[in-house]
This record gives sequence, structure tokens and C-alpha cells, in this order.
Amino acid sequence: MSLTDAQFERYARHLILDEVGEEGQAKLMRARVLVVGAGGLGSPLLLYLAAAGVGTLGVVDDDTVDLSNLQRQIVHPTSRIGAAKVESARETVTAINPEVRVETHRLRLAPENAAALVEAYDLVADGSDNFATRYLLNDVCFAARRPLVAAALSPFDGQLATFKAFLGPPHPCYRCLFREPPPPDLVPRCETAGILGAVAGVIGTLQATEVLKELLGIGESLSGQLLMYDALATSFHKIKLLRDPDCPTCRGRP
Ligand SMILES: [Zn+2]
Repeated sequence: MSLTDAQFERYARHLILDEVGEEGQAKLMRARVLVVGAGGLGSPLLLYLAAAGVGTLGVVDDDTVDLSNLQRQIVHPTSRIGAAKVESARETVTAINPEVRVETHRLRLAPENAAALVEAYDLVADGSDNFATRYLLNDVCFAARRPLVAAALSPFDGQLATFKAFLGPPHPCYRCLFREPPPPDLVPRCETAGILGAVAGVIGTLQATEVLKELLGIGESLSGQLLMYDALATSFHKIKLLRDPDCPTCRGRP
């Protein structure tokens, strides 16, 4: 793949890096990333992955843009209230980088559709806001052997981890940490719990960075580690995650 003059200019600050260069940029341009959720995490994910020149971005979301989303979901402007989030995201991504191909999936991820969708991409970034999707993506990404970069938010905190348990021990999966989802009534969601909008930006931007690292194969993978951010204390902590030999998802496989 040879770059055009415009691409040399657009990606000049990548190309000058030894860790990226023309070869790395070509990898990004060939890559297919599925972003699940075009909300608080999906927004910075989509913006930075588009700007970086990731060739194909799949966007999964069944929701429409609401006025109350705009405080943190920065991929959506006020003019798109009422529009499908996947269409709004496509317009913003195209405005930033018209070379990026956007595949919109206006649906809710479910056991019936998840495997085919995940298999069509190289890597999955989970920006969803519910446990059902998080567990489903963990299991489907493991079976399909796709890296999963997953994040979660609380009002003033965020967590981030990469899962590649299909590579075998010592890589853990999400179920190695938390085997079953908590009861739904114990889980506060963004709509009711509130969140400082910029916290979603911090974690979503870190998530985009880890996606780019995985695609480029550079640096230290976050697989086997959980990064925790506390906005009120302005602190980051990393803890080691262990593979559970009795995990129902990754036990005895692949
Ligand atoms: Zn596991």
C-alpha cells in the first residue's frame, strides 16, 4: 500500500514515529475495529480512531441522540438530537476523516447477532453501559479470537482492560475476574447515576490509545492488567489480573 500526498501530510505525525511509520500507518488503514456503543466512551474512541486513519469503523448502537447525552457524548452535536446515534457518529467521523469507512449497525447486541458481527472485525472496543453486553462480548470475542479492549465508568472513576484470553494462559478473560453479572437492580446506569462528562473522555481516550497499540503491536499490552482511574484523587492504579483455571469461558480452551 503506498500513501498519497494527502495521506503523507494527514498522517505526518504518525509517519515520523519509528513505532508507527508507513508500515504501521498501512496497518491502521487496513484495520477493522468494532466500536460497541456510540456514547460517552464510544465518542472519544470514534473521534481518535477516525483521526488516526483506522480504515473501517463499525459502530453498534440502537439509540437516538438525546439532549441529555450531549454533556459527555462529544461525537454528537446539538443539531443531531433525534437522529440515530450510528448515523450521527458516521457524519462526525466522515467530517474528521473522509477516508474512514463507517459501517453502521443500528441494533442492540444480542446472543443471536453478536458472533457474526464480531467475526467481521479485527478487534472490538466495548463502550457499552450494561453488563449483559459486557459479558456477551467477552464470551464472543474469546470464541472468535478477537482482542477486546473494554472500559467501564462510574461517576468519578473509570476502569480499562484488554482481554486476549484466546492466546492461552496467563491471559485472563473478563469472567476470570467477575464470573457472573451482578443483579440488574444493583447496577446504577449513567442515566440515573450521573457522571462527570470529562471522565468518559479520559477513559475513552485511553481506550482508543490501547486499541491503536494493539493494532500496531507496539508497547506493553494491557492484557492481564486492570487500569483504574480516580478523577477526584487524580490517580491511576494498575492491578494484575489472573486467569481463573475454573473460568467457565476460557477454562481448558482454546
Ligand atoms: Zn476466563
